[in-house]
Amino acid sequence: MVKAMLFIDGSWLYHVRPYLLNLDGRQDFELDYRSLPLLVKNHLEEQMGSKVDMVRTYYFGTIAVNKPGHDNVREKQFYEMLNKRCAYNTEIYEFDFKNKETGRRENCLEVGLSTAAMSQAFQPGAFDIACILAGDLDYQPLIRHLRNMGKRVVLVGVKGANGFYPVHPRLLEETNLFDFPPVYIDEHLGKLQYQRTESTRVCDSCGKEELTTFTSEWFYCKNCRDEYKQLRSRQMEGGPAIQ
Ligand SMILES: [Zn+2]
Repeated sequence: MVKAMLFIDGSWLYHVRPYLLNLDGRQDFELDYRSLPLLVKNHLEEQMGSKVDMVRTYYFGTIAVNKPGHDNVREKQFYEMLNKRCAYNTEIYEFDFKNKETGRRENCLEVGLSTAAMSQAFQPGAFDIACILAGDLDYQPLIRHLRNMGKRVVLVGVKGANGFYPVHPRLLEETNLFDFPPVYIDEHLGKLQYQRTESTRVCDSCGKEELTTFTSEWFYCKNCRDEYKQLRSRQMEGGPAIQ
């Protein structure tokens, strides 16, 4: 069976998220990360007229460190969710705000994604089709090298509208970059809507049961979350932390 791997530039996806959220006034839209690889798989199967095995999904993301007044616990929970509930392989790079003064705030994301895709491409039989969820021109060399190795490549992008076109036009205009028409996330939002279901969970801190739609690995009840928030805001103000 034809094997595909999905490589997600999480920083780019994060950048286009507000656009997806507001599309058609869908304020309640939440992306179901488990459906994303499935959407790409179905697209490829339609294009090829045969079964495709989506063997792995990689997600490359960043996490802010040393950012004054910022608590990165939600980012950590998000990556944990991708890891444990969606079976994504995550590679997370630090975005260090300590170096802000020198203007050096780059992270390793694009090189990280490209290196992972190339090293997988060199494993015999690892995959036939690379699915690149990104929009930056920086990936052009990666795509060319993958295709030189005989891999096929598909772009997973966002079509955009009204002056917001997050896929670099040169990625779309240049010939010999992609082997299939792109999959546009914004054309399939209905299939990517996360369905929240309520369940009773036990607070990992105080042991109280609460009805919730939270799906994170660890669960804290509303009381414990509020207490934590207050504690954090006192710490941010430089006040004494409660032991
Ligand atoms: Zn609690």
